[in-house]
Amino acid sequence: MVEALQESSEEMDEDAGDEKDEGKESETNTEFVETKVPVHQLVQTESSREGTVTWKTYHTYIKASGGYLLSLFAMFFFLLMIGSSAFSNWWLGLWLDKGSEITCGSHSNKSTCEIGKTLADIGQHVYQWVYAASMVFVLTFGIIKGLTFTKTTLMASSSLHDQVFDKILKSPMSFFDTTPTGRLMNRFSKDMDELDVRLPFHAENFLQQFFMVVFILMILAAVFPAVLLVLAVLAIIFLILLCVFHRGVQELKKVENVSRSPWFSHITSSMQGLGVIHAYDKKEDCINKFKMLNDENSSHLLYFNCALRWFALRMDILMNIVTLVVALLVTLSFSSISPSSKGLSLSYIIQLSGLLQVCVRTGTETQAKFTSVELLREYITTCVPESTHPLKVGSCPKDWPSHGEITFRDYQMRYRDDTPLVLNGLNLNIESGQTVGIVGRTGSGKSSLGMALFRLVEPAGGTILIDEVDICTISLEDLRTKLTVIPQDPVLFIMKLPEKLQAEVTENGENFSVGERQLLCMARALLRNSKIILLDEATASMDSKTDTLVQSTIKDAFKGCTVLTIAHRLNTVLNCDRVLVMENGKVIEFDKPEVLAEKPNSAFAMLLASEVRL
Ligand code: ATP
Ligand code: MG
Repeated sequence: MVEALQESSEEMDEDAGDEKDEGKESETNTEFVETKVPVHQLVQTESSREGTVTWKTYHTYIKASGGYLLSLFAMFFFLLMIGSSAFSNWWLGLWLDKGSEITCGSHSNKSTCEIGKTLADIGQHVYQWVYAASMVFVLTFGIIKGLTFTKTTLMASSSLHDQVFDKILKSPMSFFDTTPTGRLMNRFSKDMDELDVRLPFHAENFLQQFFMVVFILMILAAVFPAVLLVLAVLAIIFLILLCVFHRGVQELKKVENVSRSPWFSHITSSMQGLGVIHAYDKKEDCINKFKMLNDENSSHLLYFNCALRWFALRMDILMNIVTLVVALLVTLSFSSISPSSKGLSLSYIIQLSGLLQVCVRTGTETQAKFTSVELLREYITTCVPESTHPLKVGSCPKDWPSHGEITFRDYQMRYRDDTPLVLNGLNLNIESGQTVGIVGRTGSGKSSLGMALFRLVEPAGGTILIDEVDICTISLEDLRTKLTVIPQDPVLFIMKLPEKLQAEVTENGENFSVGERQLLCMARALLRNSKIILLDEATASMDSKTDTLVQSTIKDAFKGCTVLTIAHRLNTVLNCDRVLVMENGKVIEFDKPEVLAEKPNSAFAMLLASEVRL
């Protein structure tokens, strides 16, 4: 099955040029410059708010992962796993204490290397069993934690993907006019990849390390409270360092994310315009620009990694000092603390020195990965679907449109809020079954008339009635399936390829010439049996012999249908019932072709005369 759609106008050069500007701006000013971009610029700078990831982003992610309850449930297993692991260590210490008590009491002549044997000899199996049970718990909780965490994060990423995909598919044409493909590709490739792979990986590590730090601190506080004093000093210095580091690293990550879009845009536009690049011998320029954009993106990545190293170095120094102080405290204290507890404290403080640093790093990385969620959330919250017209969408009458009468009433249309009116006060009545030839200079608004009919762009004022029904009260799906269009530049989308056709149709039908694509659309129009048919320069890309053949087919096959033919060859409209001449978005003439041709001052007569001269 072949679907034809009007190409969503996304110009290659426009893409590349605007994205280049965007790249430059993000390079020179990391504070983001949305306000500096001129309002009339087609492609706006990719918005990226200053500051850290907002709470709303986490909220969106948690909601997408199945809600707060499920997320808490998954986190609870982290707590249980790390808790039971910490408990097993503490229990081992207790067991050792018991062992050394017995060793010192009844077998004082034994050397320490025999302690293992002694422990086994204690006969108090309870220590053994509790230790073994704690290990089983660590394992069980670990497995459940892994399963629930994987499930919830996968659910989050697939649900976010579906939401964004749905929003983008339902977006109006103006969205695709102002959003470069590179930006969308970036969202669906790199950002989705971050969500699928990297975010869960970093988040899991972070949660694990975070709970370990918490448990280590709790055990240290319980076993050796003096350590807490040292840790309090550590906490203060640590927080100051974190404050300095955190803001910068978040910004760097965002800039890195945003600078990737122009690079992607360049790749897509180069692929699309490969022929032009070769023809004008612009390979060098293209490669240089690719390198420049790549360097720009890599330099942001490098800064990001440098910031991480900056923090790591300071944390290393800090933790080494703390470890030294704690080690001295532990070895030099003559309090009643048992040797096993001292050993546990020492081993934990050494662990903590590495762990705290890694925990902050993975925490920062995890937060940085959430910028991808933030960028996706932006599409979810800001994309407004098509058909936001205030009129209530009614159910479509079953056999609508049965006649095919079209009335434009003071109709106005603009492509976007900040662009001028391209159709300005159209008043027109096309009777059912009429064939109307639409002519006019290039840019006069002929194709825009088709856009209006299909509501690809919503009206800025006035109404279009088809068989006395306002098209704004019909759902978009009904409207677009009931009318047929053969666009000026057809694009083929392949949904199913019935083998019976035996013809390979590649993506967008690119293995067909434009004329062949138009013929395919024509075949589709014939099969759909619509009452209203719009032909936008339908035969523009065909040779004159095929053109004549197609014109006669149109005449025969579409008998009784209202046919609007936008034509560049005036001879194709001479046989029409009416000719509509457009100029600057207005109808200047609408009458029978022979009547208009006979009026010497009519615009149609002048167009005819100029074509004859050519
Ligand atoms: P042609 O004979 O070259 O096909 P046309 O009569 O079909 O021309 P339209 O495509 O309807 O002309 O364009 C009418 C006006 O609307 C032009 O001034 C054009 O710049 C503007 N326009 C067309 N498409 C867009 C768009 N996607 N965004 C903004 N303006 C647009
Ligand atoms: Mg056109």
